[in-house]
Amino acid sequence: MNWKGHLIFGIILTIIVYYFLMGEIVSYWKVLLVVMVYSLLPDIDSESSIIFRIFLAVCFSLMLVMLVLFYLYKSNYSLITIVAIVGTMLAIYGLSHRGMTHSLLLAIIFSLPLLFFSFEVSIIGFIAYVSHLIGDSELKFI
Ligand SMILES: [Zn+2]
Repeated sequence: MNWKGHLIFGIILTIIVYYFLMGEIVSYWKVLLVVMVYSLLPDIDSESSIIFRIFLAVCFSLMLVMLVLFYLYKSNYSLITIVAIVGTMLAIYGLSHRGMTHSLLLAIIFSLPLLFFSFEVSIIGFIAYVSHLIGDSELKFI
């Protein structure tokens, strides 16, 4: 399944499963961004995927901002952030395609930060992530 298929399948599955779990239709359009990112997120381990290219663009943009902030304010937090971004990028480069990111364990781990928004958004992220795993026929725990 290509990224468009994952996106459409993620949106449809999230609407259906969310309705059965929560008894209401997903009505917030801003949740759509979560569904879009999370239905593509497992393919971040593939250098040819669109989510990987978006990830790189975000990383390089953040590093540029941090370099400017470091130049202006000489803050060590900027350097620490750059090191963290580079470390994250190296960790992503080391992943094999359809390996660890295509597991239910990572679906749970990646959904946890969404709890900062709400429990419902976290559930939506989890469903969207799992929709990708179903689309790839890679439904495994680890
Ligand atoms: Zn995939």
